[in-house]
Amino acid sequence: MTYPDTKETVDLLKELVSISSPSGNTNEVITFVENFLKELNVDTRRNRKGALIATIPGKDDQNHRMLTAHVDTLGAIVKEIKSSGRLKLDLIGGFKYNSIEGEYCEIETSAGKKFTGTILMHQTSVHVYKDAGKAERNQDNMEIRLDEKVHNAEDVKALGIEVGDFISFDPRVQLTPSGFIKSRHLDDKASVAILLQLIKQVKIDNIELPYTTHFLISNNEEIGYGGNSNIPPETVEYLAVDMGAMGDGQSTDEYTVSICVKDASGPYHYELRKRLVQLAKANDIGYKLDVYPFYGSDASAAIRAGHDIVHGLVGPGIDSSHAFERTHQDSIENTAKLLYHYVQSEMVI
Ligand SMILES: [Zn+2]
Repeated sequence: MTYPDTKETVDLLKELVSISSPSGNTNEVITFVENFLKELNVDTRRNRKGALIATIPGKDDQNHRMLTAHVDTLGAIVKEIKSSGRLKLDLIGGFKYNSIEGEYCEIETSAGKKFTGTILMHQTSVHVYKDAGKAERNQDNMEIRLDEKVHNAEDVKALGIEVGDFISFDPRVQLTPSGFIKSRHLDDKASVAILLQLIKQVKIDNIELPYTTHFLISNNEEIGYGGNSNIPPETVEYLAVDMGAMGDGQSTDEYTVSICVKDASGPYHYELRKRLVQLAKANDIGYKLDVYPFYGSDASAAIRAGHDIVHGLVGPGIDSSHAFERTHQDSIENTAKLLYHYVQSEMVI
């Protein structure tokens, strides 16, 4: 038995977060994942929504299992070109303007040209504006300062920038000697890296999986409809691998795998949750059970869409989610170990 190598997973994660992929503009990152899987000789197909489904045939081809993680991230779109030459934003996904203030960003035009800028509150300079500290950060006063010599809207349009261009945030990825991984987009690229490394291990070691297993790399989770379709009818168990939410009163941490018992959508399947705990205990894997108060996953989206499946949610613990995210390689490792045993386990029903 060989677990996937955590260092390799972290290196892959670093590559993934460096490819910008706000929900709605994920083709580049999906192509990267597709090529990774092609090299492993894994069958993949894209759905019309642009997500990728990889399938590994198993011993039992009547009952299937599906695991999913999402590659789309938070981001924004150009809402308006101001007469000052600055850009107004409209946010993609659930987060606050405070969490992107001062962030470097990239604007991609529909022709594929890329420009850089900084997201700032209009009245940022303390030498000029009295309310620089106190003003509420909102859509009216947050704007992008382009790194181009632009003085008005016409100058901006002349660059090819228009309303609807995608904006992505600097991933600011860092690995620390103490084993922490910091980046904006650990949600959910940490889990995508874990799934890809798991597939690689299964292929390298020629592991025969007990059931045909699909891996859905979904691309619309942050806006709520990532993994709720293209679920083969044979699918019995559907496990979302997505970040564990940390904060006051939460048991999730940056070192273990978080097993979600309930989120805003309701409880996850009881038997599957118990099976995941049993696998963690049997294999000495650090885990935490937790409730995520303001959270929904691709698994709960699938249930809502009417799929008759056994659904679950696990993932690495991510601190300060949807903002300045951080986790530790221990959490990646524990999540990877649990999934390694899960894909080889018996189904709960
Ligand atoms: Zn997520």
